[in-house]
Amino acid sequence: MQTIALIAHDKKKDEMLEFVGHHKDLLKNFHLVATRTTGTLINEKYGLNVETMMSGPLGGDQQIGALIAVEKVDFVIFLRDPLTSQPHEPDINALLRLCDVHNIPLATNRKSGHILLEYVAKKMNG
Ligand code: PGA
Repeated sequence: MQTIALIAHDKKKDEMLEFVGHHKDLLKNFHLVATRTTGTLINEKYGLNVETMMSGPLGGDQQIGALIAVEKVDFVIFLRDPLTSQPHEPDINALLRLCDVHNIPLATNRKSGHILLEYVAKKMNG
């Protein structure tokens, strides 16, 4: 089973919930990992069985980065808040960098996330 990582900064959490709701039927077919708050909100709303890491500022981005480093993540959807500075900016940059190191598809906004999942759905349906 392929793995999709889902992360949303605080001001993007509502957007992430809407995004996940839209793609719920597809996402059911994947192992999902997320930073703690993002994953907990998704689980509460949709019961998708998302595996949660630490919260982003407490090391969750680093944990997901570590999974990317050992190629245990296939796709990343990271709804970043580009208008608020984050205390864990170095961790975020490290995660984004590892996606590029390992050639992992990464969407950092809703529209690119939709495009990514449309591609994934097409591949699944042959
Ligand atoms: P959170 O972490 O899902 O625990 O809020 C996301 C982040 O801020 O990187």
